Amino acid sequence: MDENDANDIIKIKKLTKTYGRSRALDRIDLRVGRGEFLTIAGPNGAGKSTLLGIIAGLIRPTRGEVLLDDVDAVKDRDDGLARKIGVLSFHSFLYSDLTVLENLRFYAKLYDIEDAEGRSDELLQRLGMSKRSHSLTKTLSRGMKQRVALARTLLHDPPVLLLDEPYVGLDQGAMELLQRFLSEKQRTILLVTHDLNRGLEVADRIVIVDRGHIVHDEPKNGLTLQAFDDIYRGSTTSF
Ligand code: ADP
Repeated sequence: MDENDANDIIKIKKLTKTYGRSRALDRIDLRVGRGEFLTIAGPNGAGKSTLLGIIAGLIRPTRGEVLLDDVDAVKDRDDGLARKIGVLSFHSFLYSDLTVLENLRFYAKLYDIEDAEGRSDELLQRLGMSKRSHSLTKTLSRGMKQRVALARTLLHDPPVLLLDEPYVGLDQGAMELLQRFLSEKQRTILLVTHDLNRGLEVADRIVIVDRGHIVHDEPKNGLTLQAFDDIYRGSTTSF
């Protein structure tokens, strides 16, 4: 066993996902250290959302293995495992006919959170949404919904966050809030984004996916945006 093994919270081996005859992911190997921040970039259709979806347990892989904290995240998926993950994607998972607070209370109950009220209030305050806590979710703007979705993602304080295009739809203020929050580096985060600049700012490691393969995987070190952009252009194919 590699000496770094024990510190890897996510271990993915030969992960493949096919849809009919097309391969969204082709024998992906990926290891993510505890507390590491990965920014994942790649063109549309590269397989990024599929990768996050499989780790989140929302998509079933065709072949391969995903271990989360050494538990098989495909075969032995249970509530305990689900609680370790927070997912933010284009799908807000919010109920439009419930108020903001009712949504958070609902999820707090689902996750058995003790101080549901206090935790919801705290997050809404942090995300600048306290004033809208009694608004029906369907009356919120896209950016506001995204803020509430982020609160939902963080409710159970998951050690692993999977964020798929979290900046989309956010206004400048919300983007800065999210960026500040991501910079705190308190968890393991996989961030999929087309915003290379923001993605680079918060990352420890840069992964580029193209046509179902990881085509670049390096620590950020002192990578500049220009260099990242050059690597991105050089390693990906546009459709
Ligand atoms: P990305 O997130 O990088 O844009 P996706 O993971 O969404 O890429 O998609 C990877 C490939 O899998 C694409 O070719 C896409 O068309 C295909 N795909 C994704 N979801 C489905 C699905 N439910 N049914 C059929 N094909 C799918």
